[in-house]
Amino acid sequence: MEIKALIHCADFSAKKHKDQRRRDPEKTPYINHPIGVAHILTEEAGITDINVIQAALLHDTVEDTNTTIEEIKEEFGEEIAGIVDELSDDKNLPKAERKRLQIVHAPSASPKAKLVKLADKLYNLRDLQRTKPEGWTSERVEEYFIWAAKVIDGLRGTNKQMEASLDELFKARNISI
Ligand code: NDP
Ligand code: ZN
Repeated sequence: MEIKALIHCADFSAKKHKDQRRRDPEKTPYINHPIGVAHILTEEAGITDINVIQAALLHDTVEDTNTTIEEIKEEFGEEIAGIVDELSDDKNLPKAERKRLQIVHAPSASPKAKLVKLADKLYNLRDLQRTKPEGWTSERVEEYFIWAAKVIDGLRGTNKQMEASLDELFKARNISI
């Protein structure tokens, strides 16, 4: 049953992210982000593929908590584990290299991973547009937008609605796309 599968993911993700907060000054609970990414996919992008929505709910568990891909495979199966794996940076690499690899790897991601990546970037850029994280300069926010635009370049042709919303954000900041 789809509803059971979705709540299983939301519950798993909430437990894994329970001690984390977003970087905004209000220190919003971290779980707002994966739920918001899943909501962009269902509400704005018109996505009904359950595996994509489940992967969206789980997308930061491996990268940002003690969760392993094996654990995701056991709980949710091969397909979702495969998508989450594609969405997880290799934390053994230095930050700058991880950011460079996101740009390089974006075009060869699977269509399902590309959908979650677009929704993830849209959510994070809207968050940055809303308020600057504590300790971030305007230059750092600008650099983040420019980097995200490069990643998104490799994800184009995946979803009209999300790409149009992202383009609006870039246009408002005069970032050439
Ligand atoms: P981080 O990767 O440290 O932070 C951005 C990430 O934080 C997002 O991708 C998002 O990831 C998550 N996040 C949590 N809360 C928010 C929020 N409110 N709004 C948006 N994103 C949020 O930042 P950078 O991308 O800047 O990466 C660090 C790099 O910046 C390094 O290479 C470092 O060398 C450099 N740096 C630059 C500085 C500068 O002033 N230019 C200063 C210091 C470092 P998720 O989807 O996973 O939650
Ligand atoms: Zn994310």
